[in-house]
Amino acid sequence: MAKYTEADCRLCRREGAKLFLKGERCLTKKCAMERRPVNPGVHPVSRKKPSEYQTQLREKQKVKRAYGLLEKQFRGYYEEAERMKGITGENMLSLLERRLDNVVYRLGLGSSRAQCRQLVNHGHFCVNGKAVNIPSFEVKVGDVISVKENKQKKGSFASVRESKVVVPKWLEFDSANLTGKVKNLPTREDIDLNIEEHLIVELYSK
Ligand code: SF4
Repeated sequence: MAKYTEADCRLCRREGAKLFLKGERCLTKKCAMERRPVNPGVHPVSRKKPSEYQTQLREKQKVKRAYGLLEKQFRGYYEEAERMKGITGENMLSLLERRLDNVVYRLGLGSSRAQCRQLVNHGHFCVNGKAVNIPSFEVKVGDVISVKENKQKKGSFASVRESKVVVPKWLEFDSANLTGKVKNLPTREDIDLNIEEHLIVELYSK
């Protein structure tokens, strides 16, 4: 599978926003956006005002990179959102949030979406008791996500039991059993991303 090979922190600096791609490090003073929040490269500061297209493009790239998707996958979410009832931008964010790798991340079972995607790929989780190893698997209301019994003693999961994870209100988490449940579908208010999704819709509608 194709994937980004650029340094994660460089992506945040390019988008001018913290995308939380490196787990714990993102919450410390070592974060590159705390130390050097400017564009990477030889000429980090541009004097030109960005064009409308550039603004829309940067907003799209920001979301795409936060969820760790490639253009084709991301565009697929937009097209699906467009076919749904309601506001396209909000539908798209809701679909992205419902990816299994993101849900695992939101439940605090991994420190970054990239790590959670790897854990899903390596078959650490079940949905409603059945093993699922597809990061893009779309959860529904009532789905129960659990760590496989034989994986629960793994170091990273053992520490989750002791930590106090704050999960978004559309999910609930039972830390003793390492199990999460989808209470509702995520709405725009539940998604703590500082983005203007209408710019992405404008970009793709051209
Ligand atoms: Fe982005 Fe995290 Fe790197 Fe900070 S530490 S620049 S939030 S990936």
